[in-house]
Amino acid sequence: MKEYDFLIVGSGLYGAVFAREMSNLGKKCLVIDKRSHTGGNIYCENKEGINVHKYGPHIFHTNDKKIWDYVNSYVEFNNFIYSPLANYKGNLYNLPFNMNTFYQLWNIKSPVEVLEKIKNQVETAGFIQPSNLEEQAINMVGKDIYEILIKGYTEKQWGRKAIDLPSFIIKRLPVRLTFDNNYFNDKYQGIPVGGYNKLIDGLLAGIEVRTGIDFLENRAELSRLADCIVYTGKLDEFYNYRFGHLQYRSLRFEHEYMNHPNYQGVSVINFTEKTIPYTRIIEHKHFEFGKQPGTVITKEYPQEWKPGMEAYYPINDAANSKKLKQYNELVKNEPNVIFGGRLAEYKYYDMHQVIASALTKTKALKETF
Ligand code: UDP
Repeated sequence: MKEYDFLIVGSGLYGAVFAREMSNLGKKCLVIDKRSHTGGNIYCENKEGINVHKYGPHIFHTNDKKIWDYVNSYVEFNNFIYSPLANYKGNLYNLPFNMNTFYQLWNIKSPVEVLEKIKNQVETAGFIQPSNLEEQAINMVGKDIYEILIKGYTEKQWGRKAIDLPSFIIKRLPVRLTFDNNYFNDKYQGIPVGGYNKLIDGLLAGIEVRTGIDFLENRAELSRLADCIVYTGKLDEFYNYRFGHLQYRSLRFEHEYMNHPNYQGVSVINFTEKTIPYTRIIEHKHFEFGKQPGTVITKEYPQEWKPGMEAYYPINDAANSKKLKQYNELVKNEPNVIFGGRLAEYKYYDMHQVIASALTKTKALKETF
């Protein structure tokens, strides 16, 4: 009989939801994290009363009422609606691609004219079955929008040509023929009142957590503590890169405090030109309608992941998918380890999808007890 039922490696959303669900059933859980804090990449750092999204902007959205009710049972959400802008060569455009954007680009006011314009551009391009992000984007919105709002941003974000990227990435963005700047189509959306740490703290309440502990550095000793390990770190690293590295995009953040109440008037502006090295500027106070006298802005610079860096985005192209299959074969033969979350499943998950994945897993497990 081991000391814990579950050793949960990583205190991000997957680990925290898993630990909560199992603790609710009376299972003994220990959550460890190699960072000095819990929450993974949704962790916020408070600066002069402003919750700074230290690892990039996070906006919670879901269409699933069960997931919405779940998170709301731990923290109240505000009524924030994500409506970022794009800056291209000094001009501002609304996102996602909607009637405001089309008006700003083409000075066209009617949806019928917009449809006609896009249809012409799509027909000229002639991609019947889009096989990559570039073709998919042009098929969705035509060449003008692709050139101005997508190509530059995408190629610096991913460090790859748009023709070498999978099309699903661009399908994340809505295209609509209404004057509606809501970035998401989902029914429920918001930011936790008081920041994301409240959500994580709520999930982990009463559960033993130890930070500053690196599982892979003390694997043998830590593994002896529990019957089952829930691993939420990088999948390839767990297996010591046996089949080589899976690729990730990393990010570098430049945070700046300003003695100024309002820098850009919106939470996020995307910079879609290739020549500007950062992808976006985040002004954190606007996520919570902050009235503080100062402000914190962050410039987000994408970079290729290398050992020692934080991994943010899996790159789900053909080469990495092939390698992932090899690793997933090993996962199948690992009876006492559960792999979950963006890094361990190597999936471009949003927060609600991570929670859904953890809830599906814990529900299946409950049926075996
Ligand atoms: N994208 C773009 N222009 C923009 C915003 C997004 O071309 O102004 C593309 C880009 O390829 C990006 C993808 O859409 O990787 C998904 O964007 P999303 O905002 O969902 O990315 P995240 O917030 O997860 O970084």
